[in-house]
Amino acid sequence: ETVIDRIAAGEVVERPASVVKELVENALDAGATRIEIATAGGGKTLLRITDDGCGIAPEELPLAVRRHCTSKLSDDLFDIRTLGFRGEALPSIASVARLTLRSRPAGAEAAHEIAVWNGAVEAPRPAALSRGTVVEVRDLFQAVPARLKFLKSERAEAGAITEIVRRIALAFPAVRFELTGPDRSPLVLEAGGIEARMAAILGADFAGNAIALDASREGVRLTGHVGLPTFNRGNALHQFAYVNGRPVRDKMLASALRAAYADVMARDRHPVAVLFIEIDPADVDVNVHPAKADVRFRDGGLVRGLLIGAIRQALSGAGI
Ligand code: ADP
Ligand code: MG
Repeated sequence: ETVIDRIAAGEVVERPASVVKELVENALDAGATRIEIATAGGGKTLLRITDDGCGIAPEELPLAVRRHCTSKLSDDLFDIRTLGFRGEALPSIASVARLTLRSRPAGAEAAHEIAVWNGAVEAPRPAALSRGTVVEVRDLFQAVPARLKFLKSERAEAGAITEIVRRIALAFPAVRFELTGPDRSPLVLEAGGIEARMAAILGADFAGNAIALDASREGVRLTGHVGLPTFNRGNALHQFAYVNGRPVRDKMLASALRAAYADVMARDRHPVAVLFIEIDPADVDVNVHPAKADVRFRDGGLVRGLLIGAIRQALSGAGI
């Protein structure tokens, strides 16, 4: 089991930031409204994610770290509405780190915790926690030197963690995020609306002048904001795209953005954009890679056309 988990871990857990992504998504799936992320040593020494979500019952704690044990999988793999669905993250992480899971569901009399180390799962024991879940990951990859070697400096890994938290947080403005620990000065994102969250993450100058999008085509809905052509960047790092709330990276979306701005922006510049695409889960495959940043639309042309049309219309509506 540990060997299989370590192979899976190579897919799911590339670096500390990918662990943070999985654990924050679990917290969101659990309905958390406050998520605290603490890191030390660029996440190599410590990652601790604390949430106020639904929690895990003591008898389910050992199941949560078992391979392919997920409470989320529906009959149809393509009908995926929660962020997690593979039941791979916790066992994968546990196979390459020391994992502690402490939880207390609402209404439970006490909290319980389990520790997993070297594939051995301890029996749940009572712990102290008022509610929600705390997942602690220590010494990531310390037992897998080949993987440790590929990590960047603590500073770079800490930076990648900040980036993934910002990316996820932008899609969940109603959730309070706090990123703390010796790696950085704290990043606190208070719960609020999308405008305030955009201002906190992309700057008030973007949020204050961005053009709102809201368009639909054949059941696909696009909302979000795009920047004025004058508000452009030298790279595409300021383009945030989400499919059904899930952060995605997609060449087609980037190229659609480029096409939409082709007449009003220099070729080597990149627009700033926040794009939320809501689509029937049956029409998109988020299953391309376990890290789940890639998507494949069943009808890419439809999504591309929607994007380009909506952005051009929004720009011309703004007199551009
Ligand atoms: P998946 O998210 O794909 O279901 P994971 O390995 O990430 O798989 O998590 C396994 C299971 O553990 C989840 O299905 C869920 O039941 C439980 N779980 C994990 N993290 C949390 C959390 N923060 N709060 C509540 N339940 C959790
Ligand atoms: Mg998960």
